[in-house]
Amino acid sequence: MQKNSIVGFPRIGEKRELKFTLEKFWAKGCEFDEVEKTANELKIRHWEYQKNAGIELISSNDFSYYDGMLDTIMMLGCVPQRFATIQNKTEQYFAMARGYKDGVAMAMTKWFNTNYHYIVPELHKNQSFRLDSTKIISEYKQAKEIGLKTKINLIGAVTFLGLSTTDGSDKFLHFAKVVDIYSELLSEISSLDDEVIVQFDEPYFAKEPTNGELGLLKNCYDKLANISPNIKIIVTTYFEHSNEATKILVNTPIWAMGLDFVAGEKNLQSLDWIAKSDKILFAGVVNGRNIWKNDLQKSIKLLHTIGEIIPKDKIIITSSCSLLHSPFTLKYEQKLDSELKNWLSFAVEKLDEVAILSKLFFNEPLSQKDKEFVQNNQKAIESKKTSSKIHNLDVNKRVQNISSWERELEVSKRLKIQRETLKYPDLATTTIGSFPQTNELRNVRKEYKQKTISLEDYEAYIKSYIDDCIKKQESIGLDVLVHGEPERNDMVEYFGEQMNGFAFSSNGWVQSYGARCVKPPILYGDVSLDAPMTTKWITYAQSITNKIVKGMLTGPVTIINWSFVRDDLPKSQIAYQIALCLADEIDDLQKNGIKIIQVDEAAFKEGYPLRAENISDYENWAVKSFKLSVSSAYTQTQIHTHMCYSEFGDIIHTIEAMDADVITIETAKSGNRLLQIFKSSGYSKEIGPGVYDIHSPRIPSVQEIETQIQLLLEVLPKEQLWINPDCGLKTRKWEEVTPALANMVQAVKKFR
Ligand code: GLN
Ligand code: ZN
Repeated sequence: MQKNSIVGFPRIGEKRELKFTLEKFWAKGCEFDEVEKTANELKIRHWEYQKNAGIELISSNDFSYYDGMLDTIMMLGCVPQRFATIQNKTEQYFAMARGYKDGVAMAMTKWFNTNYHYIVPELHKNQSFRLDSTKIISEYKQAKEIGLKTKINLIGAVTFLGLSTTDGSDKFLHFAKVVDIYSELLSEISSLDDEVIVQFDEPYFAKEPTNGELGLLKNCYDKLANISPNIKIIVTTYFEHSNEATKILVNTPIWAMGLDFVAGEKNLQSLDWIAKSDKILFAGVVNGRNIWKNDLQKSIKLLHTIGEIIPKDKIIITSSCSLLHSPFTLKYEQKLDSELKNWLSFAVEKLDEVAILSKLFFNEPLSQKDKEFVQNNQKAIESKKTSSKIHNLDVNKRVQNISSWERELEVSKRLKIQRETLKYPDLATTTIGSFPQTNELRNVRKEYKQKTISLEDYEAYIKSYIDDCIKKQESIGLDVLVHGEPERNDMVEYFGEQMNGFAFSSNGWVQSYGARCVKPPILYGDVSLDAPMTTKWITYAQSITNKIVKGMLTGPVTIINWSFVRDDLPKSQIAYQIALCLADEIDDLQKNGIKIIQVDEAAFKEGYPLRAENISDYENWAVKSFKLSVSSAYTQTQIHTHMCYSEFGDIIHTIEAMDADVITIETAKSGNRLLQIFKSSGYSKEIGPGVYDIHSPRIPSVQEIETQIQLLLEVLPKEQLWINPDCGLKTRKWEEVTPALANMVQAVKKFR
């Protein structure tokens, strides 16, 4: 039996080859053959990386041209009606992902609590299914050609259905039909080899499953595990414990369970059941979704704990989840500080960690190179504990001695004073911060970064952008202006670059969806600030207008949720460190005459834990750190926050607890339904519900916006409302933004 494995591997390529060839194909710069050729090269290269590292059980079908859920839709033949007539399979596949003529693209949403987005299956009452096994079979054969017998990765039936949307009918209505297709697939797979291993990913059970869902799980794997005696089934979960599911699965005829012992430490509670059941355990001990070197000693200890209950010959060592969520390799990181680099491990490096752990745990002889690897690992882990790059005594002292965690006066008193001093009207109009980022602007920023233009030229350009932005807002007649964020290409990176404790990789890309990748900042050390980050630009904007200019910052929770954060300190502590820097920034802004400051928390909601038992802990530090960030604000300094989504029902009290004076939110698409949640919860602060959708190039008419405002006024009084678009405008064009905002200002007049 194999001793180690990997749940899945990234597919975008170490130089994002897949991205670039896809984009070329979409732009009609090449035929699909060229994409296929790149894909085949990548698959082979990725298999070889794993093989050379000593990974014994390697996956196929973890590759995807776009997304694994989309592949599963193709496999099950449940293509939505609007794409059904497209004959060419490739065209159909990308049409679902990206839209086609009148057929709007399928929705995407976040894969559990990662930043990866999957395509959401759309099922309807009379849904039909039909097996298409082409991709799965051909990938298996491709690997076989280079001598690899792979495990075949599939998304499990319950997870697939659980993550789908329907026309109102029961999601699991199609359960039996879907399991039939999977059965048919397994029959085909069974003829591929004398024995085939199939991994079913069922991360759906890392959330709290219902009894009904657990019943389906039993039903599903009772059936699938009996299709053919030469198929060995692994059911894998990740991102949390899945004890409820494990209890069920040990009583099905599957071969193995894959569990995440990094994010789901509580999986340890399941070991007794597994031991009694004779199942093989794929023990996920190397974190598949961070960037830090594994602490090998600690992992060996964990494995021994597991090994006390499960016999050693029934354990296979693996990653906690697919390595899809980690950057590819450190190979191209020439610019990273060498000490920091020595603490890191990206996907390729994690392979070595899994391989060495299996040698250590199963007492295999170590080569000289292995011994050095282990020694270096220990040294790196030790140096992290004391390095002055990470640890800053002053920062720690400051966090220990925080005396005021929140603002002095309560919100109703604050708002009263603010309304008197700031003198903004009812239904005050404003925007969310950014204005169109033109190609010219992006180029100037890039040139400045590459030092091909001087600081003076760069600053002159940014100022001229701000001049233009302020003039345009004045002539449109907005009440509270913004500087437009021309100096930022990203709302987290900009702040990370100016605070101590952050680093930036050159090539640490992680797939976000399809061809899109993100390169999250690396938050490695205690966070502090040497100089103000935004004051120069905001005060410049304020100096050229008599209207109030709103300052613009990114909040601590969003900075954390969109970065790779250190693993040697609780997130709460990291958040408080960032919050103190933001509090300093706010103080600097207000001392320099800025009267309204917005602290964006765009990613507040996505950091929520998967299980209810962990929610209060998250909410506690998230709210506390937000309040700490704005604790320095004078009573008369008005604090805004912004969140870009419309599902607030379950977190409304948490939003209230953040205690911002004004919150702007995304409501444009939901009428006033969302606002009713604010009303019924007794929300007492001011709210700017987005009155139009900025994600579309369409220019809303005056009348449409009037109707929207009318709807809002049915729920809340005009003294409590602000009027604004539903998110930042940086992805739009000026030709769209100017008339849209003019219409918004016009619409408000009717109600003043
Ligand atoms: N202030 C930011 C902007 O306008 C907010 C972006 C966001 O919410 N994602 O771009
Ligand atoms: Zn937004």
